[in-house]
Amino acid sequence: MKLIDKGIGINLISKGRIAQAKNYPILDLAHQLGLEVRNKSCGCINPSHEDKHPSMSFDKRTNTFKCWVPTCQFNTKSHDTIDLVMAVKNLSFQEAINFILVDYPSQCIPSYQNTKKTPLSVNRTKSAENGEKYADIYEYLINFLPYPDKSHYLVADRKISLDVLKANNIKRLIQQVNPYYYLNKLQEAFPRERIKQSGIYPIVYDNNCCAVIPFYREGRIIYLQGIASPGKREKAKVRNLMGIIKPVIYVPELKDNHSVNLCEGIITALYMSSFGYSSVAIISGSDSTETIASNLTPFKDRKFFLCPDADKVGIETFNKIKKLLFTQGFNYDSEYFNPIELGRKLKLDAKILIKIKDLNDLRAYMQTPPKEQ
Ligand SMILES: [Zn+2]
Repeated sequence: MKLIDKGIGINLISKGRIAQAKNYPILDLAHQLGLEVRNKSCGCINPSHEDKHPSMSFDKRTNTFKCWVPTCQFNTKSHDTIDLVMAVKNLSFQEAINFILVDYPSQCIPSYQNTKKTPLSVNRTKSAENGEKYADIYEYLINFLPYPDKSHYLVADRKISLDVLKANNIKRLIQQVNPYYYLNKLQEAFPRERIKQSGIYPIVYDNNCCAVIPFYREGRIIYLQGIASPGKREKAKVRNLMGIIKPVIYVPELKDNHSVNLCEGIITALYMSSFGYSSVAIISGSDSTETIASNLTPFKDRKFFLCPDADKVGIETFNKIKKLLFTQGFNYDSEYFNPIELGRKLKLDAKILIKIKDLNDLRAYMQTPPKEQ
């Protein structure tokens, strides 16, 4: 998270614009950013500490937020709308202001004003909906999009095989000059109001979004997640549907009767699938371990291998999941299988293994992509 380049940013942006961005209603912004705010609080956006209860709160009067965990970087003082966007979307000061004032659909985009394409207004419904009723919209978009190619971020950088991407119907978004390109496509087939309610905006509108991942339930797509390539940043960011309940787990194509590797994050799951390991990803760390375990129930006849990221939060979360799997009679391997184990399998030397915390680190040491299956 970069909260550092304010000095440089301020020289380039007028004070009026900064003030305007700071006045943008912070709770609306939090909602637009996909944060699950309840009673003006939500889980902290800082991933580096545990968050059993929502530890971050918003103050409508001062239009700021603060985390109440003493060690957190957002604890020392109140932070404003710009800080929030910088942290959540990993943007610079200037980019964050642009996001608040320009990029967001509730605002007009100067260069497109002449075309009179009024963007969709933000879905402000408080209650998160199920995605089932918008399956047709999600499927329409997915069918319209092309598959990734060899130079795609997920293939070239993340070493996920093209076959795995195809098997899971993962598509790529093309960067469009016209920000309304995908929206116009959708509007050929669906009423605006339904498109708005489907929460699809953060995915089709983000020019940095490079891939769309469908979540299936009983053959229908019930959720989409967008992946934004990291560019100069460290990690890829995800784009979630707005106002739609996010599934707890992501299940890539599973090979029949194979054991399942339970891991963190979609990209890790797809990466493991590329090596021929069936995998299920926990995608929402904020869900309780009970919820995670109950979502795994349909796979109870499989044997599970637990593959946490090799860091404190990963191991702690998986320790709790392990207990639940045990009490609920799941069949699981009591040893963890983490990126370090995978590194050993790939015969990386000890010096490299010490530096590996998650598959992203492991990727840095991989010379070649996995073989196509
Ligand atoms: Zn915090």
